[in-house]
Amino acid sequence: MTSMMPVEISPELLTRFSRFDRPGMPPPAPDAWAESFSGEDYCRTLKEVGRHPDETLALYLHIPFCPGRCLYCGCNTTVTHNSQRIDSYLDALEREVGMVGDAIGTGRDVLQLHVAGGTPNYLNDAQLTRLVELVSSRFRILPETDASIECDPRRTSAGQLELLHALGFRRVTLGVQDLEPRVQRSIGRIQSIDLVRDVYWMAREIGFDSIGFDLIYGLPEQTAASFQSTLDAVIEMAPDRVACFGYSRGTSLAMHQHAIDIHRLPDDMERQRLFEQAVKSFLASGYVWVGLDTFVLDTDELAIAQDEGRLGHNCIGYTTMKADNTIGLGTGAAGEVHGHCVQNEPNLAIWEAMIERGEFPIARGHLLNPTDRRRREAIGYLICNLELPLELAEGCFDEEYRRLAAYASDGLVDVEDNKLRITPTGRYLLRHLCTEHEAYFAWDRARWHFSRSL
Ligand code: SF4
Repeated sequence: MTSMMPVEISPELLTRFSRFDRPGMPPPAPDAWAESFSGEDYCRTLKEVGRHPDETLALYLHIPFCPGRCLYCGCNTTVTHNSQRIDSYLDALEREVGMVGDAIGTGRDVLQLHVAGGTPNYLNDAQLTRLVELVSSRFRILPETDASIECDPRRTSAGQLELLHALGFRRVTLGVQDLEPRVQRSIGRIQSIDLVRDVYWMAREIGFDSIGFDLIYGLPEQTAASFQSTLDAVIEMAPDRVACFGYSRGTSLAMHQHAIDIHRLPDDMERQRLFEQAVKSFLASGYVWVGLDTFVLDTDELAIAQDEGRLGHNCIGYTTMKADNTIGLGTGAAGEVHGHCVQNEPNLAIWEAMIERGEFPIARGHLLNPTDRRRREAIGYLICNLELPLELAEGCFDEEYRRLAAYASDGLVDVEDNKLRITPTGRYLLRHLCTEHEAYFAWDRARWHFSRSL
């Protein structure tokens, strides 16, 4: 699987599939999750987790603040320069953690902890320390907990990285996006290559187990030549993981994206070629292509897990440690708890007011029925293992299986007796194929997060 050779998508194929390149809808889409799912329902669900101490937990924490707005941003974030505003948020977050802890019991081990935003490292040292302490007051963060945090290189320092490491974070993801000044100017995010390099080497010297970069293709002013110089610079630094997302335009939710002139965006074919360029560059440099859009060093646990068929995916991303329950904390955070998909209220003021009233700040939720669960299992297996055994599809995904198999004539899948496999060509279009057949991708959307794009 890891030796798949890159190919190019023909313009004809891309044209046929480009209409599916959009945030997808899972079964059922978050928009269809019931708004009638209440805080009381959530409390009952959490108490079920409390009755099953053997079930494992992941925590997703959302920090919705930034010092300024990048023009491509699709995240749930608020621009503030008021540190007390962040203190108030942490007050509310502490109350939410306390409510969750009361429902499931204090002291449960945490398998995976992920802090995202917004800009989590916009918090000052005292706030970052408080953030970890408030979680630790109700949950056990262990040395073996997979604890990760997203950081903006423009807001960090050696001292901050040392603090994060001392607080138990072992993985850090840096928002790099693109290193070309012309592209950076067009997206309102200036960060020199020297700055990114300095931060990267600081994190290396401090001893983080894993350093990840986020890149975005499809940005204004990006050309094959400019993107190649970004790729070359990134590869020369050799981060452990690189996630390469497509710029996603959603101006109805993110109106500031109107400031990006659509005439300066690469067209569909150019976008595709940029991604192919990334694939070729990373594979040629010894990286392994994991899942849809992630590249990791071949020693990385994700590469090993993919090779051994153990790769998992949850609302935090690709993982080797898929917990039984993912609890979302903070405004807009999504989770999956004891068979329910749940999303917190995404409006910051409403989220805070609900907590102030002592309510769980739930916006919507959905109890996964057995068919939902099997469909999610099938699509999760497909995006992790690039194949779909017939037995996983039978009875829940039959029509989709049949339609996917029909793409054999386009060279996108190989059909065997009891499974179908995605071909190297099909891999480029896997997101489109899965989106066509709904499924799984709305976790990003549920986080109001088009990409992990700090
Ligand atoms: S892209 Fe990241 S840093 Fe920029 S505004 Fe959005 S959340 Fe903040």
